[in-house]
Amino acid sequence: MLLIAVIFISGATLTAYVYSFVNQTNLGALSRGAQTIASSIDASEVANLSGTEEDLNNPDYLTLKSKLQKIQRVEKDVRFVYLTGQTETGEIFFFVDSEDPLSEDYSPPGQTYEEADQSFIDAFTTGKPNITGPTSDRWGTWITALAPIVDPETNKVVSTVGVDIDASGHQRYVLTNTMIPALITLLLLALAIIGQRISRHEQQMVEVKSEFVSIASHELRSPLNGITWALDNISKATNLTPPQTNMIAEVKTTANNLLGNINDILNASSVTGNRQTKLMLEEVDIARLLKMAAEQQLLAAKERGVEIVLEKFPVGSNVIKADKEKLKRVFSNILSNSIKYSNSNSSVEIAFQHIGDAYQISFADHGIGIPTKDQAKIFGGYYRAANAQKSGVTGTGLGLYFAQKIVELHGGKIWLKSDEGQGTTVFVQLPIIKS
Ligand code: ADP
Repeated sequence: MLLIAVIFISGATLTAYVYSFVNQTNLGALSRGAQTIASSIDASEVANLSGTEEDLNNPDYLTLKSKLQKIQRVEKDVRFVYLTGQTETGEIFFFVDSEDPLSEDYSPPGQTYEEADQSFIDAFTTGKPNITGPTSDRWGTWITALAPIVDPETNKVVSTVGVDIDASGHQRYVLTNTMIPALITLLLLALAIIGQRISRHEQQMVEVKSEFVSIASHELRSPLNGITWALDNISKATNLTPPQTNMIAEVKTTANNLLGNINDILNASSVTGNRQTKLMLEEVDIARLLKMAAEQQLLAAKERGVEIVLEKFPVGSNVIKADKEKLKRVFSNILSNSIKYSNSNSSVEIAFQHIGDAYQISFADHGIGIPTKDQAKIFGGYYRAANAQKSGVTGTGLGLYFAQKIVELHGGKIWLKSDEGQGTTVFVQLPIIKS
């Protein structure tokens, strides 16, 4: 919406500016043309005219007529060039014009210009050039530039040069030039509106998808829990053969993986979409939370032959305001990655330290690592590095996406350092919010 408003306002301003600029430039050129003509005419030549039909035989009239005709022929946009005079009673009349005497638009010397507006009179009284129009007379509708001819001896205006251009031609010229920014504005507006519609549609699709996935996952989780519970009970039976025991263990691992994936999807969908994720803040002891997350992953670590090492934590209480359940899921996700992408018979070290106004937790493993080119993408969601996919370890690519969202909601940050084939260390920094 803001983008559309910005485009509209800047487009309208630019269009108005171009309109006024082209209009002023064209009128300025017309006015300068009239002034050039006025300065090229000797006031004494006009002073010799009587402003009556007798001028037709006056050589000065003939010279001026031919001059005006030449100018009109050269300047294609100019329809009429003429010299006007003013009677003692203030009426405006023609001394000489650029029309052929045979033309029906010809004005003989002395003809009163009845339609002359105040600007013609002003030109005589002020001695200053001006522009008037669009004004209509019996010949058409014009924009007229007026430039007085001043007698240098008396300092009086002896005549005024009038230059007429067709008003609709001028307006067409200005509008044609103004159309370019107006069209660009309309085009940009159309693009912005289409872009907004597409993104709204995509957003709705993502929400519908995540709603659907979340409902489907909920429905899958309960029966899966039932299956793993039943498998636990079956595996306790004493009369099982070794192949049966192995098969039950395999089914249990698969069911647990599936449960993990469903949890990832549910977690991720809880931080996607328009709904603002709410944190249930309470006082949480970070060290205790880490221990709980480590205990949760103990079985998975044992199965891979990975030892979880909790390095010495800072003494005393290490309490922050946090959403306990969500933060525990974050630590579990990161730790679960460290274990599942570890080399068997290696260790995962969890370190925890106080840095400035924040707690920093790190999870270091000695496993497959993350290729440099993939490191920027793995927090974006639904992304798994090629080496992780090849390793046969299952995953959704949603664990770190969820972790990043939750850590950022706590005002913290998450990042990692990794060398392919060497191992990965994931860092989480959480601000200590004083209560
Ligand atoms: P997944 O369910 O695939 O593990 P995550 O979002 O938790 O999804 O992680 C995204 C990807 O980041 C993983 O698929 C993997 O490629 C990479 N990754 C995350 N943690 C580690 C790790 N400790 N060691 C190696 N690769 C990791």
